[in-house]
Amino acid sequence: MDKLALISDIHGNLEALTAVLHDARDQGVDAYACLGDIVGYGADPVACLELLRSLAPVAVIQGNHDLYAADDRELMRFNTLAAMATDWTRRQLGPDERSWLKALPLQTRLSLAVELVHATPNNPDSWSYVRHAGEGALAMLAQSARLCFYGHTHLPTAFCLRDGAVAQSTAASYDLAEGERWLVNAGSVGQPRDGDWRAAYALYEPSIQRLSMRRVEYDLQACQAKILAAGLPPRLAERLARGQ
Ligand code: ZN
Repeated sequence: MDKLALISDIHGNLEALTAVLHDARDQGVDAYACLGDIVGYGADPVACLELLRSLAPVAVIQGNHDLYAADDRELMRFNTLAAMATDWTRRQLGPDERSWLKALPLQTRLSLAVELVHATPNNPDSWSYVRHAGEGALAMLAQSARLCFYGHTHLPTAFCLRDGAVAQSTAASYDLAEGERWLVNAGSVGQPRDGDWRAAYALYEPSIQRLSMRRVEYDLQACQAKILAAGLPPRLAERLARGQ
């Protein structure tokens, strides 16, 4: 594994996923890991699942949307928009997709040095949000590997613990130095919320300890048209153009 692509929060956006995979191939990516929320919000949950599985990813983590779409449990803590989208997504998934999503782990280790989780290493099933330095520092207390990748907030960012202090950054690339610990949000492929509409993912090169935060343009209009045609809430199409 020379170049690992970390893809998260695809949310049924096939156009964004396809564009990200093109970019990853151009970058020489030879392994993929998914940090969860493959489905929910977008119009192509099944196609995204199939495409992801065809990549033979080294790991796939379960997100809250994956969990809730996989069975008929009550939609606790979901806002109206998310609940409507989950209800629609449930009707698209067959038994095979549901059982596959249900069986995904909440967190995993890729190696001694790298762990993966959807929301936070600090009680992953609490689905808490790690957005700011204080939340990052708290999450890092529960981090067991030197480098932890997560998603869930749809906000690409990195927390670095160095000399007992946690610093947060939103740089385009990072060089990971000895003695540092990192908690890194890969951003969202299918529904970025940092004001940039382009699909986000992270690229990790273990041999040189380098991390690149990639942004990729995709066919936004085609994706929006599918959401509207599917009868999903129009706001789910609109927000994609604003990156929110
Ligand atoms: Zn998500």
